[in-house]
Amino acid sequence: MATLAPMTLSEKAVDFIDDASLTSLVEATEPDARQVQDCIAKSLAKQALSVEETAVLLNATAPESVERIFEAARQLKRDVYGNRLVLFAPLYIGNACVNDCAYCAFKRSNPDAIRRTLRPDELRQQVTALENHGHKRLILVFGEHPRYDAEFIAESVRTVYSVREGHGSIRRVNINAAPLDHDGYRTVKAAGIGTYQVFQETYHHETYARVHPEGTRKGDYLHRLDALSRAMEAGIDDVGIGALFGLHDWRFEVLGLVTHALYLQARYGVGPHTISFPRLRPAAGVTLDERYRVSDDAFKRLIAILRLAVPYTGLILTAREDAALRREVMAFGVSQIDAGSRIEIGGYTEAGDAQCMEREQFQLGDIRSLDEVMRELLQDGYIPSFCTACYRLGRTGEHFMEFAIPGFIRRYCTPNALSTLTEFLTDYASAETRAVGEQLIETELAAMPDGTGKRRLQDVLARIRKTDERDLFF
Ligand code: SF4
Repeated sequence: MATLAPMTLSEKAVDFIDDASLTSLVEATEPDARQVQDCIAKSLAKQALSVEETAVLLNATAPESVERIFEAARQLKRDVYGNRLVLFAPLYIGNACVNDCAYCAFKRSNPDAIRRTLRPDELRQQVTALENHGHKRLILVFGEHPRYDAEFIAESVRTVYSVREGHGSIRRVNINAAPLDHDGYRTVKAAGIGTYQVFQETYHHETYARVHPEGTRKGDYLHRLDALSRAMEAGIDDVGIGALFGLHDWRFEVLGLVTHALYLQARYGVGPHTISFPRLRPAAGVTLDERYRVSDDAFKRLIAILRLAVPYTGLILTAREDAALRREVMAFGVSQIDAGSRIEIGGYTEAGDAQCMEREQFQLGDIRSLDEVMRELLQDGYIPSFCTACYRLGRTGEHFMEFAIPGFIRRYCTPNALSTLTEFLTDYASAETRAVGEQLIETELAAMPDGTGKRRLQDVLARIRKTDERDLFF
């Protein structure tokens, strides 16, 4: 019988979040220009910032300082990630849940939520539809419920990898689900997942207790804060942290995320693979508390400061945000976005143009198709990438960092991005998108130095265009 994982902790589990200290940091005075410049210089040297240094940037509100922070974030994004943007799609598997989180449409006390769990055949249909759109990377999302135990999650992952539609295949499956125990993480890892995400939602203890009722599993602050420590001890070295912005002071949450990242780095030798920063969105059966609503201006600063604080951690911007804002903030350091997303259970085959709030966890801001998003990215000079090479060549966790830091990764990232882009243009793109995409590839090739690397890449692109060969990477 499916059961929820025992609520165990990692060895030496500790609550490393000191509310008083973080609160005093965000209440500090405006820093002088010298302090701001020193922090920026450290980031541009690709060194992670301390919590105190991150607070300096958070407290810098003078227009000239804010502009300097924006410019530095744009520069660091170019230096570390170039003009690539990695694409994925969310796939909600089931919304049964034992928790009662105040901000969520799936909370157990919401009578309007339409409860559903995809059957294996329905899961295959969703994946087939996603492959026919051109997706290669998915994140599977689950409520917290005995039905979604480690074995169920692992079986869902295996089902996703087994679906092959034409030239389509899903090559990396990430997970956003409830915290597990060590055995549970080993079971899910063995199914071949990429990143395991668990968001703390809010690092502020009092707020956490207010929005996560006592007696629910998610009501246990330390069990959740420790979730990814257990994952790392169980061998999952790509983990994703996140906070739900709008529950408490956004500056406090940024410091909470940086504290968490530095804690994992110090304890396990590798920080989080990704950080997510979703903003509260309207949701069925939810009354939003607007006290800590994050304005668009603050949201831009939030992303730029995170970029500078953790140079090598991927930053994920989701389709919660509307298209115009996404387009603007991507330059501040975002490295991954979802596109062509539908979050209704069964949404990739059943959802029409309008969103059905009773079937969603929250309302999406951007429901454009993957092809539309690809075209806009290409017009803005980005290389949309579905690359999964590092994960499949074992360049993960610490090994990924070893590779990424010297900048070698660039030698691989751009060619791999162009290879997966060529697959999309050849197999799935509209004529308009193909034309913009082929132009961009020519521009990228022209900018590359002549030599073996360029010749190998041109050979790969030609094979994709002219033969049935796919999934060619470096
Ligand atoms: S946020 Fe997650 S755990 Fe909380 S009610 Fe929603 S689905 Fe359940």
